[in-house]
Amino acid sequence: MPTNNGAARLAYVRSEIDQAAVAAARNTDDVQLVCVSKTFDAAEIAPILQAGQRCFGENRVQEAADKWPDLKARYDGVDLHLIGPLQTNKVRKALELFDCIQTLDREKLAHALARERDAGQPCPILFIQVNTGEEPQKAGIAPDALDAFVTFCRDDLALPVRGLMCIPPVDEEPALHFALLRSLAERNGLSGLSMGMSADYRTAVRFGATHVRVGSAIFGSRPALNPA
Ligand SMILES: *Cc1c(COP(=O)(O)O)cnc(C)c1O
Repeated sequence: MPTNNGAARLAYVRSEIDQAAVAAARNTDDVQLVCVSKTFDAAEIAPILQAGQRCFGENRVQEAADKWPDLKARYDGVDLHLIGPLQTNKVRKALELFDCIQTLDREKLAHALARERDAGQPCPILFIQVNTGEEPQKAGIAPDALDAFVTFCRDDLALPVRGLMCIPPVDEEPALHFALLRSLAERNGLSGLSMGMSADYRTAVRFGATHVRVGSAIFGSRPALNPA
């Protein structure tokens, strides 16, 4: 990390993404940097917006509702992604705030999204969260249940499913999980791959990530009591 200035760290992460894309013979425009602003307040986010970044990720609906309406009024073109769990009683609020929901992880949530869509609410772009490590404490669809869940969401409910998202187990080689996510997406005809965080976004780009979710490499470390 070259500096403690947010805008400079943003530029550094962007250049690292560019280099990883070039090394993988990919077009850097095909990799979206989702800047993860959870736990950071509007005053800390504003310099990143001023530096030109528009795509951000938050993992709590209420926290996003407290920070983003005002920031969206001040900066054009914000693209806000939900990267944390979504309770069905917060779906309506989430649809008002988010342009993309990366954590579609169960049938009940799919039904709730379809219900709002049927009531006339535009549906954001969706990613299905896959529990690639099959960790009991982690959200997401198990790999062997994924094909049926994609069919259910995309074909039965006609939801706008763009891709897959994963959070690999902390103690395993992330590349194995990135490769698995990619093969699951390919066999389901999905083009979006949200994978890679501060520690491993370069690897994720090599494995075909279309969205990398980077927080602490840009904003600095978060308080230890906020693991989500
Ligand atoms: C917090 C979070 C990130 C960003 O993590 P960093 O290690 O700070 O880059 C990415 N994805 C999800 C789902 C997160 O909750």
